[in-house]
Amino acid sequence: MAKKIYSTKIVEIGGQVSDFISAAKMLIMFEESMALPELRDACVMHTGNELTDMIKPGDIYKISGAEFKIIKVGSEVQKNLMNLGHITIKFDGGETNEVLEGSIHVEAKPIPEIKPNDTIEIYKAAEDSADGSWLGLKGKTAIVTGAASGIGKAVAQAFLDNGANVVVCDLNPNEPSFNLNETSGKVKYVVTNVTDAESVESMVKTAIKTFGKIDILVNNAGINIPCLLIDPKNPHGKYELNDKVYEKVTGVNIKGVYLVAQAVGHEMVKTGGGVIINMSSESGLEGSEGQSIYAATKNAVNSFTRSWAKELGKYNIRVVGMAPGIMEATGLRTLAYEEALAYTRGITVEDLRKGYASTKTTPLGRSGKLTEVADTVVFLASDRASYIHGVTYNVAGGKTRG
Ligand code: NAD
Repeated sequence: MAKKIYSTKIVEIGGQVSDFISAAKMLIMFEESMALPELRDACVMHTGNELTDMIKPGDIYKISGAEFKIIKVGSEVQKNLMNLGHITIKFDGGETNEVLEGSIHVEAKPIPEIKPNDTIEIYKAAEDSADGSWLGLKGKTAIVTGAASGIGKAVAQAFLDNGANVVVCDLNPNEPSFNLNETSGKVKYVVTNVTDAESVESMVKTAIKTFGKIDILVNNAGINIPCLLIDPKNPHGKYELNDKVYEKVTGVNIKGVYLVAQAVGHEMVKTGGGVIINMSSESGLEGSEGQSIYAATKNAVNSFTRSWAKELGKYNIRVVGMAPGIMEATGLRTLAYEEALAYTRGITVEDLRKGYASTKTTPLGRSGKLTEVADTVVFLASDRASYIHGVTYNVAGGKTRG
């Protein structure tokens, strides 16, 4: 639990407050545009030198239930303040009695309606992380495979948001775009085919050349081609498992996972450790009608996670699995995919879609958000999860019994 270092209450808001500036023990100015969700940066100014000495980037600023991460503290911010519209608010003295000026810069989300008597609180970020943030991922390097789309893209964005540098690799020749600001990590896009050892080796070399070392690998690239083992209506037809589908799905979902883990693992052993996160699926444990080959590859991934944990723990490499359930649409959920899956289950595409949000399919009654997987991945990759090893985490809204 982060430590609270400051709290105060709003006494008054509005025009006449500015008359109190010299008398107020605490003064805060909010940029008006802070109320607009599309603007990430906004300024908050406090008087009180003790406070600005105490506050560090990464600390958390809470006002009326909304949280802001502080990204800048000090005089530099004040320069930015000069040209901004603002409203003034008078506060009680809080725990600071000095009337010296200081300012902090926050990463803004929409500000809630603020009223007199609302509280302002500042919490210290975890003391023990290198960068002062809770996850401590700033400056680390993560490789995320299959990150041009869907879950991998959300995972890459979450690492960037937490200050980690990310090597985004994917078969797709079109470079994806990410939201970046001054605290984000850096991104390097490398077109890679995870089923091709040379392509993987070359991507790993580029990663090291660009960022110096690799701390985290998220083995995310994966494909799914629904088909039945036996289709009595159309034996050896379009929706029956065959060698081509088998080779394709196992190629990306099993061979691709081992090739990238091996190439990155060599580097992690040399540099003294790291974290490997393998993207599985809840179907890997549960099995899935019409997706037996996909589910089999994901259970193979679970097995990689357990076995590699036993092999690599001694090199200070943690291995963890992530098993999402039904997620909001990604590149994987094409119409062809839905038609194939519906066919294998003897239902319509419409019925299949109804199932995505049914409590019969998923007890929480909704698909998962990509950020819900991404948040879990960045946590598992961080030192906050330093004793989690050799297990696969379900993020499936209760869908699986496993
Ligand atoms: P997606 O299709 O949006 O993303 C997969 C990415 O992998 C694509 O960008 C694709 O170009 C890339 N890729 C495919 N083959 C590749 C190769 N040979 N080399 C490099 N990149 C390659 O799909 P998604 O839903 O985001 O899936 C990501 C992972 O999550 C997969 O492993 C999938 O099995 C798993 N998963 C997804 C769901 C879900 O509901 N979407 C549920 C459980 C597990």
